[in-house]
Amino acid sequence: MTKNNNNNNEEEEFISFGHNLNTKIRFEDADEDEVAEGSGLEAGQDESMCDAGESNDAAEVTDDTTSADYYFDSYSHFGIHEEMLKDVVRTKTYQNVIYQNKFLIKDKIVLDVGAGTGILSLFCAKAGAKHVYAVECSQMADMAKEIVKANGFSDVITVLKGKIEEIELPTPKVDVIISEWMGYFLLFENMLDSVLYARNKWLVDGGIVLPDKASLFLTAIEDSEYKEDKIEFWNSVYGFDMSCIKKKAMMEPLVDIVDQNQIVTDSKLLKTMDISKMSSGDASFTAPFKLVAQRNDYIHALVAYFDVSFTMCHKLLGFSTGPRSRATHWKQTVMYLEDVLTICEGETITGSMSVSYNKKNPRDVDIKLSYSLNGQHSKVSRTQHYKMR
Ligand code: SAH
Repeated sequence: MTKNNNNNNEEEEFISFGHNLNTKIRFEDADEDEVAEGSGLEAGQDESMCDAGESNDAAEVTDDTTSADYYFDSYSHFGIHEEMLKDVVRTKTYQNVIYQNKFLIKDKIVLDVGAGTGILSLFCAKAGAKHVYAVECSQMADMAKEIVKANGFSDVITVLKGKIEEIELPTPKVDVIISEWMGYFLLFENMLDSVLYARNKWLVDGGIVLPDKASLFLTAIEDSEYKEDKIEFWNSVYGFDMSCIKKKAMMEPLVDIVDQNQIVTDSKLLKTMDISKMSSGDASFTAPFKLVAQRNDYIHALVAYFDVSFTMCHKLLGFSTGPRSRATHWKQTVMYLEDVLTICEGETITGSMSVSYNKKNPRDVDIKLSYSLNGQHSKVSRTQHYKMR
């Protein structure tokens, strides 16, 4: 797939999307049994994102974190926070939401779910929040405490180290919940559940959640070159048949930048989630789609991406992670099809997508894709299963 870094403003050098590392993914190469054995954890137990450990003073944590800690807790390392902070589409949108809509924040009690370095809490404090509770479960909480202090906000921001599901909040209610919880394919990592948990427990009646809308979209692309490189590659590796791996590779959606020139059909909305109202179960769904070809071409993959919006703002703010928008660290999610579809302009791919959390490891997402094309040159009907892991 061609990289499409169409960042053409002064912040360009700020961005480094050119790699294909799923930096948000932990357990990526881990054999689950090995993990369970080595750590005393059950395979799939919910410890991958949070490992707050003992509460350390900031001064003590500088050098004693080992690679084993990062293995369980990638958010403890500054690298992933650097990537998120340098994603200006993401971070600037949150900054604009807060600075341009101070009426949402001023004199309010704010809860920052998954504060990381504390950036969103700092924005809120600067916008005049009465108090901000910054909850972070990884070791980065120690850094956040230091950052808050270094910037003179210790009296406004309280950093709490621990899981949102386990901490005690020193206030009965909050007026605002802010969080950057979105994962690849929107739902990977299942952090949305933690935001909904916080909302149900602490948000005052009439309080607001930022962001409050998230939508998942689907489109179809031509991608022969990259499918060849990532999938067909396994057919003959230095002359050996490794096609058993091909089956595995097909099942894992690929997170990468799609060039907008690859898009063959229109895009369809699959699902909109209202974060201020939805229940946790609403994140699992089945949605029908109908994609209309805009030119004669071949289709190798369906591509999912999401938008988020902050509808409480004076003027609607939000961003899209779609292939026609400026690249973000979420890139797009590519699902390769077994068949190459030969499609003519105006023909439609109809189908449905089912999304659910994996029963064994609820941070993983299972996707079932059914599609059919009854075209002039291709007649195909098939169901494929994918797993974001
Ligand atoms: N708000 C920061 C970081 C966003 S990344 C920013 O915008 O830059 C999400 C953060 O949430 C990670 O640092 C992760 O460790 C934390 N997190 C995930 N699940 C959590 C939970 N259940 N409780 C507390 N923190 C959580």
